[in-house]
Amino acid sequence: MHIEAVKAPRHPAYRNIADAEWNDWRWQMSAGIRDIDKLTNCISVSAQEKEGMRRAGEAYRWSLTPYFLGLIDPFDPTCPIRLQVLPDERELFDPDGLEDPLLEEKHSPVEDMIHLYPNRVALCVSDSCAAYCRHCFRKRRTLRKPRPDSFDRALEYIKGHSEICDVLVTGGDPLMLSDEILHDRLSRLREIKHVKILRIGSRLPATLPMRITPELAGMLAEFHPLYLNTQFNHPREITAEAAGACDILSRAGIQLGNQSVLLKGVNDRRETLMELFQKLLLIRVKPYYIFHPHRQRGTRHFRLSIDRGLELMDSLRGYLPGMAIPTYAVDTPHGKVPILKDRIVSNDDNGTRLRTFDGEIWFEKKED
Ligand SMILES: *Cc1c(COP(=O)(O)O)cnc(C)c1O
Ligand code: SF4
Repeated sequence: MHIEAVKAPRHPAYRNIADAEWNDWRWQMSAGIRDIDKLTNCISVSAQEKEGMRRAGEAYRWSLTPYFLGLIDPFDPTCPIRLQVLPDERELFDPDGLEDPLLEEKHSPVEDMIHLYPNRVALCVSDSCAAYCRHCFRKRRTLRKPRPDSFDRALEYIKGHSEICDVLVTGGDPLMLSDEILHDRLSRLREIKHVKILRIGSRLPATLPMRITPELAGMLAEFHPLYLNTQFNHPREITAEAAGACDILSRAGIQLGNQSVLLKGVNDRRETLMELFQKLLLIRVKPYYIFHPHRQRGTRHFRLSIDRGLELMDSLRGYLPGMAIPTYAVDTPHGKVPILKDRIVSNDDNGTRLRTFDGEIWFEKKED
């Protein structure tokens, strides 16, 4: 099938940058946009919006790559890419929001490592990202430097717990580390005999696809079985560059999954989700989870009802390949809870009546 993804547009402010620089992730990072005045030279905002941005940007870390800026419609205040990464006054009004909605601190026997499930842990190895998502549920962590010895301490903990067979390397964004440091971290995890599966969670295929170089993919491939889950939330993020990054990883034998967040104003429309999940399959990324928005402080304007989420996800069934439909889950301090709109209409001694995608009722007779 032909991949429709097109190259990300460049903001005119970067018109004169040579391709070699533009396509170099180190250049993209060094040119990262972290200044409100610089940002508002590129994006049209009112004076009041700008003041709100400044205050929200002081409350929660922000920055973005020139690459990701190019995906923003500079004249559309409701642009789904803009909403995800530009600081917004609404972040400051969230009385019901929680600092640590998943009580990760409580589940951290060692700082920067979360042991919630019996046989797997999440290990935060970095506190930085290429673009800071306004909906991030780890704002706490991206606001704070990890302790210098926290990796060593986590390693000792994992060594002492032979039931841990799956380590999810996350952050922040682990691919913000240099190849050398990442290699060191992964090798030391791989040395532990009972750790069978390594997983990386990274948003860089979406926000800084240049980071995915053949050298990085070759290095990661030394640690198979290694899986990578990324985060695309809107079809516009699936550019030719992102497709290229995913292709490099796939060719290194790394299976790719996607963990989206359902976000009001960003992707809470049926057509948007249809296009997102279809495009993910086209670039060989399997939609894995879509999370109900977390109750993280500062994200009230993204939250929607579970009923709305259930309705949306239910409307995809039958219209998309089953492969394209992720598990809709509510992330709780007791783990992820998968949810699905009920398709059992009635269930009794005679059998079960089921609601099908095309609106029929199917009667499945009971077996003796
Ligand atoms: C999500 C998560 C995992 C991995 O969960 P899977 O359902 O296996 O993908 C592991 N530990 C923590 C703390 C998590 O939040
Ligand atoms: S990439 Fe992940 S850790 Fe970083 S800001 Fe976004 S959601 Fe948070």
